[in-house]
This record gives sequence, structure tokens and C-alpha cells, in this order.
Amino acid sequence: MPIARPIRPIARPIRNEPPSSAGAVNLCGASRTDIGAALTALGVPQGQLRMRTSQLWHWIYHRGVTDFDAMTTIARDLRATLASRLVIGRPEIVVAQISTDGTRKWLLRFADGKEAECVFIPEEDRGTLCISSQVGCTLNCRFCHTGTQAWVRNLSPAEIVAQVMVARDALGEWPTSTENRQITNIVMMGMGEPLYNFDNVRDALAIVMDHEGISISRRRITLSTAGVVPEMARCGTEIGVNLAVSLHAVRDQIRDRIVPLNRKYPIGQLLEACAAYPGAGNARRITFEYVMLKDINDSLADARELVRLLRHYRLPAKVNLIPFNPWPGVAYECSDMAVIERFSEHVFKAGISAPVRRPRGRDIMAACGQLKSASERARKVKPKAPPAAST
Ligand code: SAH
Repeated sequence: MPIARPIRPIARPIRNEPPSSAGAVNLCGASRTDIGAALTALGVPQGQLRMRTSQLWHWIYHRGVTDFDAMTTIARDLRATLASRLVIGRPEIVVAQISTDGTRKWLLRFADGKEAECVFIPEEDRGTLCISSQVGCTLNCRFCHTGTQAWVRNLSPAEIVAQVMVARDALGEWPTSTENRQITNIVMMGMGEPLYNFDNVRDALAIVMDHEGISISRRRITLSTAGVVPEMARCGTEIGVNLAVSLHAVRDQIRDRIVPLNRKYPIGQLLEACAAYPGAGNARRITFEYVMLKDINDSLADARELVRLLRHYRLPAKVNLIPFNPWPGVAYECSDMAVIERFSEHVFKAGISAPVRRPRGRDIMAACGQLKSASERARKVKPKAPPAAST
């Protein structure tokens, strides 16, 4: 299979912060420390900081309020002071779309004009929000559309949290309730490599998990990595969420080509890090994502080798088989359905769950590896076209 693009070297992670918006401090996505600092700057006495911070926290993350005047537990004078210097803004929603299957997608523009997408996928027993960690990606996986876009920057903790805030606004999920939630799960499977933006992702997820706010349990959050081995243990200990690994191939020769990060952290090292992942066990399995690429990684021999590897490293695993989602100019094709089924059955027979992921939101290009660039193309073709549906 010819490789369409020259292989770019693997860039080092860059932990750059976005420029802050001029003027008012935005508390959307702020941590308790950030809120405390903002209050201190406004002259709130030290002795009141804790109480005021938790009041604001409640209004921002439990109630979803964006207007200080609605914060009725805070004295009117202080509300006015807060409103004069602070905002609880949301990123601009550039496009909001709803697929015929109920999948929703938002393209968000941050203060510096950079854009990222998040996607909500409703299912019978759950609703999953897929969020982005970076604008662009440094990894250049050959089958992933994000790899064809320029690397731009890391998202800040606030920008990562803001994706959840926007989705909850649109789904009418305020105030936070423990029952009948629409967003029950979060996956860090949008644009970017979350473990190359570790600190920001960790800080963002701490806000999302906080019991006095959005309160989504770490057991319902999954972080997907292409295999940044040195950060994996920290992900387990410092974030504590479920792990998904984009394996996609069982031989280094092939994985080196399709996931170039493999040249740095080959399959053996990656699976060892998985075996040592803190918190993983039979009740909390590691998901191995495997994109089905015709004649590349989809043979029965590959399925056998996958089973052998998972057994060899004694991994509490489930396999997620993803039908490849093609995009213009890509050198790969999706495996035939019969081939995917055969692969799945072989892994199932070995006692490992290996469902085939159902493509969702195809009509709004909400699928894997197609975020943002698809919207950019659509806007170039029809600059004034209204979104398919608005929230
Ligand atoms: N960088 C992280 C998370 C982002 S990608 C990671 O690699 O895991 C989320 C998942 O979508 C990954 O498993 C990725 O390999 C997969 N993916 C990317 N492009 C795809 C495509 N065109 N078709 C199917 N799956 C794709």
C-alpha cells in the first residue's frame, strides 16, 4: 500500500497556553483556584474566599448559570461587582448540527479564533460526549484526517471543560441531576492526543468529575491514547479514568507505518504499560481500538496475533473494532463487512469481547478522525450555509 504523504517526524509535546481574552476574566472552565484568584483580585476578603468560591462553583457547574444576576445566594452588591469584572462566557458556536440518528456536533471557536469540535452520541442506555484535547495533532496517524491538518496548539483546561458546558447547555442539562442524564459518559477521543496535553487534560477532568458540579464519575470517562507510554501510568494515578489504546496493528512493521508514534514506543512497550495500568482489572478493562483497514491489518492471522498478545501480556481487555472511515485522498479502504465480522468472531471465540463499532453521525461528518476539517471544507464550499439544525 503506497503511503500518500511523507512521514513527518514526531513532534515533541508543546504545553503552550492560549492567549487570554482581553478584558474580563472568563470563569467558564475555571478551577476553584482560578475562581479564588479572581475573587482576591476583586478585593473579596480572605476569610470569605472559600465560601464565595463554592457559591460560584455551584452556580457555574451545578446550575450552568452564565449571568451573575441569577446568583441569588450572593448579595446584590457583590453580584454587581462580579459582573463588572468577570464573565461566565462560552466559546462561540460556529456550527451546531444534528444527525438523522440523533448524533450532535458542535464546532466551537475559542477566544484566539482557533476551533475544535465535540460530538454527542446518544445510545439506548447511555449518552457519550466525545471531546477534543488539542487543535490539530502531532501524531500523523496515516488513516486519521486530523493528521493532515496543521498542528496548532493544546487546548487549555477551560477550553476542554467548555466543550462539556456547551453540550449541556444545548441538551438542557442544567441544573445537574443524578437521574435521567443525557450525557452519562465522556470520551477523550476527539482531536488531538490527550497524553501530549497531560496537565491540561488532568485539570479539566478534575473539574468535570467534581461532585459539587458536573459530577461525571471517573468510571464513566475514557481517555484514548495512541500510546504515549511514559504518561500512561500517570493517567491512571493522577486522573484515574478508563484507558483506551489505539492499537490498530499487531506487528511493529505495520504499526510503525500507520501509527508513527510506534517507532518511539513499540507494541511490546505499549502493552507492558497497559498491563501495569493502575486500576485496570476484570471489572475495569482496557479498550483496544482497532480500525479495520482493508488488506493492512484485517487478516485472520492478525486476529490470532491480537488474541495471542492480549493473553501474553495478561491484559484485561475489550477490543473495539472500528470500520475505517475514509476521507478524500486517503490511501486506505475499509475492510469488507464479512472480513470485519470474521475478525470479530475470532476474537470473541477466544473469550474477548470484540464488538464492531456502529458508525454514527455520518451525515454530519461526526465520525472518527473527521472532526473539524470536514466542517472547514463545508464552509469553504458554502460559506453562508446555515447549520443543519441549531440548538
Ligand atoms: N490521539 C488519541 C485520540 C484521538 S483519535 C488516539 O489516538 O487514541 C480517536 C480514535 O479514532 C482513535 O482510535 C483513532 O485511531 C480513530 N480514528 C481516527 N481516524 C479514523 C478514521 N478515519 N476511521 C476510523 N477511526 C479513526
